[in-house]
Amino acid sequence: MPVKIPHVTLNTGGEMPILGFGVFQISEDRTQRAVEAALDVGYRMIDTAAAYENEQAVGRAIAASGIPRDELFITTKLWVQDAGEVPAKRAFERSLDRLGLDYLDLYLIHQPFGDYYGSWRAMEELNRDGRARAIGVSNFYPDRLADLITHNEIVPAVNQIETHVFFQRADDQQLMLEHGVQHESWGPLAEGNRGFFENSLLADIAHTHGKSVAQIALRWLIQRGIVSIPKSVRPERMAENLDVFDFQLTDDEMARIATLDTGRSPIVDHRDLQAVAWVGKVRFNT
Ligand code: NDP
Repeated sequence: MPVKIPHVTLNTGGEMPILGFGVFQISEDRTQRAVEAALDVGYRMIDTAAAYENEQAVGRAIAASGIPRDELFITTKLWVQDAGEVPAKRAFERSLDRLGLDYLDLYLIHQPFGDYYGSWRAMEELNRDGRARAIGVSNFYPDRLADLITHNEIVPAVNQIETHVFFQRADDQQLMLEHGVQHESWGPLAEGNRGFFENSLLADIAHTHGKSVAQIALRWLIQRGIVSIPKSVRPERMAENLDVFDFQLTDDEMARIATLDTGRSPIVDHRDLQAVAWVGKVRFNT
């Protein structure tokens, strides 16, 4: 039986699966196989980016799957070097071409750096034309998100930010709820940082439900209404990460997991000046 993945409704009126598959740090030569396996176990949402340099392989897997386009939800992202109204439009065409698609379900500004106001104007146009069914941002902390919303016509449909048990982003989520922006988590398994897979509190709850630590962390995001996109190159883990719709965490378990929040990223802080300078300089063949 294929897994039935619940959807959230975006501010566009469109629907987005609450769980999908991410392909960051999967090399181009392994991506086609990984995405084919993910589609095979039941994922219907794929999250890539121009900066991951694997859009072509994602496109080949989509084409090989034979799954009708309207059953898929495909996201890609605009990298910093293509920020600005004209470069963003060109970058969109290149991404679409590499993916072999004629529209995207979601197009995101990958980082809150460079001329993202210009990028947003381009994205608003792509959205009005129907070529990007939804548009959004990624890694926008509340101040930048509020600023972008205040000074533009279209409110981002999604903000994809690092969110997991150690960095829970409750204030970010509150702002997004107030403005109708869907919260999407990247790094839902904390990329394994801080001993994530061995965490005793999560392991204890996992034991109670006969589930794994990864499944508890994903279920906790789902019960907070947060979309997530765990990555794995292993089909058995892909299936495990999808098998989270047959149990429920109690209020007490949700409250216990809330105590794991450190309020800080173990991966990257987009307000750290060195990170801002470094990200701004990274160039890809986008
Ligand atoms: P995740 O939190 O999804 O962790 C991935 C790691 O966990 C991999 O090492 C994987 O190993 C391992 N893993 C996955 N499932 C299991 C499991 N069930 N048991 C044990 N280990 C497991 O990290 P990501 O950074 O990949 O985040 C997910 C997605 O979010 C990305 O792929 C990307 O699409 C997006 N993203 C977006 C960013 C942005 O700036 N917008 C930044 C980072 C990510 P293995 O593959 O060997 O199974």
